[in-house]
Amino acid sequence: MTAIHKLMNVALPPLSLILLSIFMLPFLFFKLLISVKRLVWIENMARKVVLITGAASGIGEQVAYEYARRGAFLSLVDIRKDNLVAVADKARSLGSPDVTIIGADVSKVQDSKRFVDETVNYFGRLDHLVNNAGIATISKVEDWHDVCETKPVIDINFWGTVYSTFYAIPHLKNSKGRIIVIASTCGWFPLPRLSTYNACKAAVINYFETLRIELGWTVGITIATPGLIKTNLALKVIDEEPSLGIIPMGSAFECGKAIVKSACRGDMYVTDPSWVKVLFPWKVLFPELVDWASRLLFRLSANNSRKKGNLNLSINSQNKAE
Ligand code: NAD
Repeated sequence: MTAIHKLMNVALPPLSLILLSIFMLPFLFFKLLISVKRLVWIENMARKVVLITGAASGIGEQVAYEYARRGAFLSLVDIRKDNLVAVADKARSLGSPDVTIIGADVSKVQDSKRFVDETVNYFGRLDHLVNNAGIATISKVEDWHDVCETKPVIDINFWGTVYSTFYAIPHLKNSKGRIIVIASTCGWFPLPRLSTYNACKAAVINYFETLRIELGWTVGITIATPGLIKTNLALKVIDEEPSLGIIPMGSAFECGKAIVKSACRGDMYVTDPSWVKVLFPWKVLFPELVDWASRLLFRLSANNSRKKGNLNLSINSQNKAE
């Protein structure tokens, strides 16, 4: 190791602690000023154009209604186009002046290019892109039947987000618009049996942090990290991993509202329910403790599932015997 690295290894940790304690108070004051400014300055979405992927249900559907209440034009995209019809009708009744629906698979490059082009051709501009479409599969890595089994999760949750963003950037630069990306608390706090899902969400967070630096002030980026929200996706996950049912679920309505409010205020991040945020410093400051607690909880939940499995087996064999 060269002398400069040796010196930095010894000097930087205490120096950094001193700087942290000096900057903490002025930084908190600066953040307070910024939040006051954001309370006053809220982007007016009336007659602006918003494209939302995965808008047929859950968080995406509620985000659509919240933008509709603010008078935005909507382009709703989902792989289940039929389910978008009712969402579009409700969005119009809530105040959106016009809504277009597009059936598309975000994991296909050509589909992503098509729905961005169709939106801009129809409305003439694009102001907000909401990357929301997503899926989750739940299984222990050792239980996979095939090493590529969870590839669709990456194709939809990560690449689906990257494709639509790539084609939307030129239009968002013209309108000085905003990208909203629905990541997850799992991107920070990995939950067991959701390895690929956790990895995608962490990748999405890092991808958009990088893009934010590259785009500078031309296009804003809001990264949403929802906790557990009561939607089809979450109910499916809990159905397969009942131990996660102990986590209190937030409502899709509140989550959609919080996301749009933060996007219109120009926030960099939004977490809903907001209590989830208290977990983040624990992960940064005490990673070993978080890792130890997670392993313990996973082991306890695995034992419970095994006991339930044994109980079911014995009930089944009793039934058979009868
Ligand atoms: P949801 O299943 O209700 O909604 C997902 C939507 O995406 C559906 O309408 C589905 O048809 C659509 N979709 C799926 N694959 C698609 C594809 N290839 N192309 C186009 N559309 C597709 O679930 P949700 O919970 O509302 O999920 C929305 C987003 O929120 C996801 O990215 C999810 O990872 C994220 N999220 C959810 C939770 C939660 O607890 N529900 C927590 C954190 C993050």
